[in-house]
Amino acid sequence: MKERGLLIVLSGPSGVGKGTVRQAIFSQGDTKFEYSISVTTRKPREGERNGVDYFFKTREEFEDMIENKKLLEWAEYVGNYYGTPVDYVEQTLSEGKDVFLEIEVQGALQVREAFPEGLFIFLAPPSLSELQNRIITRGTESEDLIRNRMAAAKEEIEMMDAYDYVVENDDVELACERINAIVLAEHLRRDRVAPRYKKMLEVE
Ligand code: 5GP
Repeated sequence: MKERGLLIVLSGPSGVGKGTVRQAIFSQGDTKFEYSISVTTRKPREGERNGVDYFFKTREEFEDMIENKKLLEWAEYVGNYYGTPVDYVEQTLSEGKDVFLEIEVQGALQVREAFPEGLFIFLAPPSLSELQNRIITRGTESEDLIRNRMAAAKEEIEMMDAYDYVVENDDVELACERINAIVLAEHLRRDRVAPRYKKMLEVE
């Protein structure tokens, strides 16, 4: 039987750059992680493609997925639903591949419940004021929305306690390096590696 893959959860406050770091990780030619494409009810932004960036659904379709237990976790975030399809995650982990989730913090807490053995990485902003600048310069959100996101971010930072690792996003390349290093180390943990050696002894 194949050894199960690792479930890697990257989360953190709104505007910290989770999406940018995730894209940078997946644009590296040698990425070994499988990205779990989320389901959402928000409208596609320009350039976003269904089945690539997200699976775009109606609220009704999303609520059906909740009801039929098709989601590993889900959250309502700034008026829209976001969720992780459970079948893809289960299937990919059982094929021995590492699955990478990039989700907001309420969802990450639910994954922690379902998969305590997952690897939970909190992406932290260098400072809250920098976070605010980034949200404003993104320019796609109204002031009210920005204020909501800031209030949410303050609460989210206090949630760092629920994670195994904290990676500061002061530089995207550095953040990617740190995440890759964490995953590498996690694969080398004794409790993951030892069973393989023990099996080897059984063959003797
Ligand atoms: P955006 O609308 O900017 O693409 O995403 C908004 C927030 O939703 C981001 O913090 C992103 O990480 C989060 N998100 C994306 N997919 C999921 C998901 O499947 N589950 C949860 N809980 N959050 C998600």
